[in-house]
Amino acid sequence: MSRAGESPVNARSLLWTPSDSVRDVNRRRIIRAVMAGPGTQVSIARQTRLSQATVSGIISDLQKEGIVRADSAEGERGKRIRLGPVRGVAIGVEVNHNGLTVAARRLDNSNVQYESIEFAADQGGSLWVRESVRLIKDLVAEIGLDENYILSIGLGVPAAVDPRTARVTQVAASLSWDLSGEPGARFRDHFPHVPVIVDNEANLAAWGEATYGAGRDHETVLFVKASTGVGSGLVIGGLIYRGRHGLAGEIGHLTMDPLGTVCRCGSRGCLETFVGGARLIDQVRQAYAGYRVDLPGSLESMIERAKNGDVVCRRILQDAARNIGLALARVCNLVNPEIVVIGGELGRAPDMIVQPMMEATRQYALHGMFEGTVQPMTIVGSELGLHAGSRGALEFAILADMTVQDAS
Ligand SMILES: [Zn+2]
Repeated sequence: MSRAGESPVNARSLLWTPSDSVRDVNRRRIIRAVMAGPGTQVSIARQTRLSQATVSGIISDLQKEGIVRADSAEGERGKRIRLGPVRGVAIGVEVNHNGLTVAARRLDNSNVQYESIEFAADQGGSLWVRESVRLIKDLVAEIGLDENYILSIGLGVPAAVDPRTARVTQVAASLSWDLSGEPGARFRDHFPHVPVIVDNEANLAAWGEATYGAGRDHETVLFVKASTGVGSGLVIGGLIYRGRHGLAGEIGHLTMDPLGTVCRCGSRGCLETFVGGARLIDQVRQAYAGYRVDLPGSLESMIERAKNGDVVCRRILQDAARNIGLALARVCNLVNPEIVVIGGELGRAPDMIVQPMMEATRQYALHGMFEGTVQPMTIVGSELGLHAGSRGALEFAILADMTVQDAS
């Protein structure tokens, strides 16, 4: 093993060792936690769910080997443990129905680099793997490393993923291209020795916001991604809650009206049939039917127009916010989150949507969440914006099973 000052260790060699002895498994968990970010021994113990004594013993060995360093701070317990001369890069990929974002971070650095591309909504099936691979290679080269230093890839897909098999259980209703089987396996030909771990993209965006964004320092975070489709992710006690089939949090398919319009999921009157992106744009078209008005072609342009004072676009967005708020009230009665973070395209307009959403939630959820408590439930806009999913995926790639409830 290398000591400080000698040539850096490849991060992969620290993690992908075959030994399953308890000590080696614990050691790898601690290294992962430090790779995700510097922390005190107390915070590392909490994150790894290991005892203080175990953490302290392993950290001491890792310091001797030069793998981690301790900041000189007052007292042993206050010292922050950070990564030593270890070279590696973690990758996060968020794939959506019409585009994807790749995030990359050197493990010895906190700067995250992003690259995004868009594609036609019917072309994703033939493009997403090729374009992800291209952007991953570009970013890794840009930060001065090569593919041999990729530690792991976290992949967020617009589908529910079975946590036990990493296979897709059900694709998002808004997806018009094929995404079946085991999406992570599609990278095998390109990065044969790199582990790829997969989850639903809204789950990973929830993880990103709960750890680095608007939900940090909260115990229970509900993230809602409102774009073409409406998905959500739940982080409870610092762990992603996925459910047995990876379908937990599919808020877009809560039934709002059992006699309503048939949804692409096969049910009727789902939230998405009221507030999905295409539905909102249709409502603008209807309102302006017969008038010579340039119509918005995307949710993004509709939100821009609403911000610029278009009263039709504004009203449709606010009504959508009220409908989401009604659905949220039901979820809140079940889960009782501390904070709800609104992301996706609608999350770009918090000034317009948070208030009507909150009014509807308060009207239909139990009062105890809002009144007579020192910490009422809040709804806020996303801080990571459209980077939430790839950012969450990147840290998911580092932490792996430390982010999810035990699925065994
Ligand atoms: Zn549905």
